[in-house]
Amino acid sequence: MKKLKALMLSLVALLPIFAAVATTYAFESSIHGAVVVTYAIPPTDDSMTNPDYKLLSYHWYTTINYYINPSNKYGFSTTAVVNTITASAYTWDKETAYQVFSYKGTTTRTAGRRDGYNVIAWGAYQAGVIAVTYIWSSGSRIVETDCRMNTYYKWSLSGEAGKFDVQNIMTHELGHWCGLADLYNDADYWLTMYGYGAYGETYKRTLGLGDILGLEAVYGP
Ligand SMILES: [Zn+2]
Repeated sequence: MKKLKALMLSLVALLPIFAAVATTYAFESSIHGAVVVTYAIPPTDDSMTNPDYKLLSYHWYTTINYYINPSNKYGFSTTAVVNTITASAYTWDKETAYQVFSYKGTTTRTAGRRDGYNVIAWGAYQAGVIAVTYIWSSGSRIVETDCRMNTYYKWSLSGEAGKFDVQNIMTHELGHWCGLADLYNDADYWLTMYGYGAYGETYKRTLGLGDILGLEAVYGP
């Protein structure tokens, strides 16, 4: 009940954070119709013990070497951006013996272009979407993943009101890189892979039971 109360205080329109899916040959996006979705309070507080997860139909078969383009208009230092995003990656990595992610350094490359580099960067995108993960796959094998944080919105490194928290949103997006799909049932609200996010939200920084079970279904414990 405590958590439900806190939620109602911070009731805002939630926005989708999702994976745009591309095959090796043709781009195909899974953009949902609704631009702004009004948040429905979950009927029950499942806390983080809900075991739900959904897998994408593809995943990486190797450690994901990734790069960060720290360029931003929010005044964040390169070190702060790198520390925040690598923390998101480690949140997944520490739950499995497999090495899922390997940070390779900063880059000036953009996200959303298939160039052989897995890049996380800020960039323009349509209103109504917080961030988008691009996946290029060949059969069940992911061959490249990028993530663009939408510069249409304000971003924060500390969960400020009226801004999207980088670690919160990136932990969700990197869940897609791990092969997990979005969840949209109200009961899955407290899981990192819940498909909507809100300003000031930070609870997706930590994984719930379903998130961990999904990761282990791909990579083992
Ligand atoms: Zn998502």
